Amino acid sequence: MSVLAFNAGSSTIKYSLFAGGSMELVAGETLEDPPANAVEKILAAISARVASDPVAAVGHRVVHGGRHFRESVRIDDRVLGLIGSLTKLAPLHNPPALRTIVAARRALPGAPHVAVFDTAFFAELPPDRHVYPLPYEWYENPGIRRYGFHGISHAYCSARAAEFLGRPPAGFRAVVCHLGNGCSATAALDGKPVATTMGFTPMEGLMMGTRAGSVDAGILFYAMERMGLTRMELFDILQRKSGLLGVSGVSSDFREVRAAAEAGNGRARLALAIYSHSVRAAVGSLAVALGGVDALVFTAGVGENSAELREEVCRGLECLSLRLDPVRNRSLRPDADLAADGPGGRILALRTREDLHIAREAMRGL
Ligand code: AMP
Repeated sequence: MSVLAFNAGSSTIKYSLFAGGSMELVAGETLEDPPANAVEKILAAISARVASDPVAAVGHRVVHGGRHFRESVRIDDRVLGLIGSLTKLAPLHNPPALRTIVAARRALPGAPHVAVFDTAFFAELPPDRHVYPLPYEWYENPGIRRYGFHGISHAYCSARAAEFLGRPPAGFRAVVCHLGNGCSATAALDGKPVATTMGFTPMEGLMMGTRAGSVDAGILFYAMERMGLTRMELFDILQRKSGLLGVSGVSSDFREVRAAAEAGNGRARLALAIYSHSVRAAVGSLAVALGGVDALVFTAGVGENSAELREEVCRGLECLSLRLDPVRNRSLRPDADLAADGPGGRILALRTREDLHIAREAMRGL
């Protein structure tokens, strides 16, 4: 039997097919700008393989589970309706997941389909970490709270860090920096989240490719009232035209901004400096939330691949007993321990495996 994991984003669909027993990856692909019949195409591509090894369960990444979903759930019509009702909280992400679920249930009606939520990992965040200092009534209704995102990656990486180091999860303190197009950082103790940077929406926290991350709310009023921006223009700027792109004017892609900085572009250099400071500041705050760090984890496109960014972030973290070994940092590939020898915390580059986490969750109910 095999397990299929779908990860439908705002502009891509990824799929991974695992052999159910060993959880070995046997097929997978990312479709950019997927066509309406993407699921059918994917199933056609793996049809020979699943003819001999049928799909026993299908896992679907769903970004926002709102207050309804605190853990993965088997999908039925009621669950589908609830996920649909959360579209207003994640307008870019929940709709493609819904379309994928509907198509996949139609094509594979015999297998259980399981929704795996990015917010679920953070359902247990303590109240003083998820209630905003706003009128309390807003928390009660309509439910404005810190939900947190990238939870599938943070759950996988915090558990993987302990496993990689051969440490029991109990008492293990990890700070995970997920640095891709979207960026967030989470502190986890005993494999459970203690604090995270993303909030009610995935716009809060660290500077990202096109998103500003946290900014003074007063700027938004100023932009609307004094600069005459409409609500939609402001949303577009905060969501698509800020971050690395907004400051550098070059690109939202970390590699391109880096190349421009190396070629002498001052704004690209400034963008990278703001970016690394944003991560370093978050690590400091999350380390304090844990009372120390056993493992600082870098993951996702930038975190896994940019030795320069890791070096920049770790400059100044010696005060937390986190010391990067510059040679290991530049020569080792994930999964790897990049810290200098000694008694301090470990610094890991881990390849995030959201697909594996989704597949494991789908298998759990079988
Ligand atoms: P993700 O969202 O995890 O796919 O990450 C996308 C980001 O990772 C983009 O900003 C890429 O520029 C960045 N990235 C991918 N590969 C590398 C690399 N080899 N070095 C630096 N950044 C990279």
